[in-house]
Amino acid sequence: MTRPTQAKLNLSALRHNVSVARELAPQSKVMAVVKANAYGHGAAIIAGALQSHADAFAVASIEEAAALRGSGITRPILLLEGLFDESELGIAAQLDVWLSIHNQQQLQWLEGAELSDPLTCWLKIDTGMNRLGVTPDNALHYHQRLVNTPNATDGTVAYTHFAAADDVQNLQTQRQIDAFDNLTFNVTRSAANSAAVLAWPLTHYDWVRPGYMLYGNSPMTQDHPNARTLKPVMTLTSAVIALHDVAAGESVGYGGTWVAQRPSVIATVTIGYGDGYPREAPNGTPILVNGQRAALAGRVSMDMITVDVTDLEHVQLGSEVVLWGSGLPLGEVARWANTIGYELTTRMPQRTLRVVVNA
Ligand SMILES: *Cc1c(COP(=O)(O)O)cnc(C)c1O
Repeated sequence: MTRPTQAKLNLSALRHNVSVARELAPQSKVMAVVKANAYGHGAAIIAGALQSHADAFAVASIEEAAALRGSGITRPILLLEGLFDESELGIAAQLDVWLSIHNQQQLQWLEGAELSDPLTCWLKIDTGMNRLGVTPDNALHYHQRLVNTPNATDGTVAYTHFAAADDVQNLQTQRQIDAFDNLTFNVTRSAANSAAVLAWPLTHYDWVRPGYMLYGNSPMTQDHPNARTLKPVMTLTSAVIALHDVAAGESVGYGGTWVAQRPSVIATVTIGYGDGYPREAPNGTPILVNGQRAALAGRVSMDMITVDVTDLEHVQLGSEVVLWGSGLPLGEVARWANTIGYELTTRMPQRTLRVVVNA
């Protein structure tokens, strides 16, 4: 018997979510974003399952790219922040990755290198997020230098990133689209993250770059029809390991923050912040026990939580518990914990077993 705490991965849901992106952006190639261990899901499992479904992958560092190559991924891999040091160029060439170029230094490293084969570069253009990229005014100059260096292929892509595409009312997205459309040179383009794939068809261009939606969750701030068919890839599960009758007036857990208002039944579940369940989740956070909704009662511990199951039927030792995923949207739990679903899966530690349940 092993500890029942598991992140169950539904890979057919993953492939379904890619097909949702493809249907929404039928003219575009799909770059699956698998940075940060595929948002905590497990990069080798996720990229492996998408090998023949995505046209390319995107990661944050050469180490993440090397891990993908090591697990047999042969598709193109883009480094979203490019190189952090000139010394990475040799490894980048060896791994045959695509480079982002977002500043002068990275361009000079590339121009000064001696490479046996040119690398494909994605020129990052800052259209208003003010985080990463060259200004639209400088973009033509950068593009020209990439055309001129023998170290870049002629497949340069110009790309940008949206600051607020998750909010369909936010006017910043159209301003960013306009800035991007005003680039005068003829080049392959990419702009859309998940939110833009779902809600901003004018942003699809030649490549879309979905991340979060592939894992089956909606990045939108409001309900959106295009997000409704997404299916969660990760279902975080555990089980009841103890049941306690608690008299009215008794408290539960560290600090005694939950106090029984009536004679109550408390189920102890073997999952805690050491497994990636957020300690910020307050009393009342929804949890499924045997498929029925119950509420967190008491502080989240490192390895355990306590749940008020007073009104539920048939709860016993071993009863299945779902913390998020199938039947309980990640985003709903994230709101209770005052964060976003991205963070909950991404910060999940290694100790939580990732188990493929539906290949
Ligand atoms: C992370 C990232 C994405 C994917 O964003 P999602 O909201 O997860 O779809 C796309 N493009 C860039 C540049 C990113 O950093």
